[in-house]
Amino acid sequence: MSYVIPAPAQVSVPVVGRQERFPVCRIYCVGRNYVAHAQEMGFTGREPPFFFIKPADTALVVEPGQTATLRYPSLTKDFHHEIELVAAIGTGGKNIKAADARKHIWGYGVGLDMTRRDLQGEQKKLGRPWCIGKTFDEACPIGALTPAAQAGDIEQAGIWLQVNGEDRQRSDVSKLIWSIGEIIELLSTAWELKPGDLIYTGTPEGVAAVMPGDTLEGGVAGLASIRLKVA
Ligand code: MN
Repeated sequence: MSYVIPAPAQVSVPVVGRQERFPVCRIYCVGRNYVAHAQEMGFTGREPPFFFIKPADTALVVEPGQTATLRYPSLTKDFHHEIELVAAIGTGGKNIKAADARKHIWGYGVGLDMTRRDLQGEQKKLGRPWCIGKTFDEACPIGALTPAAQAGDIEQAGIWLQVNGEDRQRSDVSKLIWSIGEIIELLSTAWELKPGDLIYTGTPEGVAAVMPGDTLEGGVAGLASIRLKVA
C-alpha cells in the first residue's frame, strides 16, 4: 500500500511485563458513572449512562516508570483531571450481554479523562456537543495495561488521584453506577466494539483544576499507576 501523504502512526499502549504493545482503535468515555461525581456536577446519579468518544491520537501514552509531560491545552482557564479505570477490548462484538462482557476484555489500565471544564460548561448551556471541552491534543493520558487475568478483582479496587502529593480523588471501582459489564452491553448496542477499543469507565468525585507545574499521580489498585507533570 502506498499513500498520497504520510499515513498516521498507529497509537499503542505498553503492557506490563511484555514487549508487545496494545494497538488503540477507538476511545469511548462514560459520563457521570459515580453517584458522588454526578452530584458534584449537579445531577442525581440516577440517569442512564451516556457516552462520548475521543480520537485515538488524543491518547497521551505514559510509559512505565516515566513522568509524562502534559501540555496545558489552549482556550481554557479551567483544566480538570478525571481519574478513570480503563477497560481494553481484545475481542470485538455487537450486542454483547453484560454476563459475557469479561470474555471481550483484554486488560485494564489507568487513564485520565482530561477536560476543558469551562468550554464543556459553555457547550452544555448552548445545548451543543461537548467536543471542544472533552477532545483536544493529549486529552486522554493512559498508562501501561495489565492483562485481565493478572488484574485481580478490578470491580472492587481502590481508585485515586493525587496532585502534588495531596489527595484529590479517592474512591472505589465498586461504586460505579453502571458496571463494566453493563457499560459494554450498552455500548455494543450502539457501536460494534473492535479489538483495540479503550473504554474510560467514568470518574469518582473530587474533579478539580490543575495548573502548569502541577504533578499528577493516579492509580487503581492492582494496575500500573501513572505520573504526569503539567507544562
Ligand atoms: Mn470522565
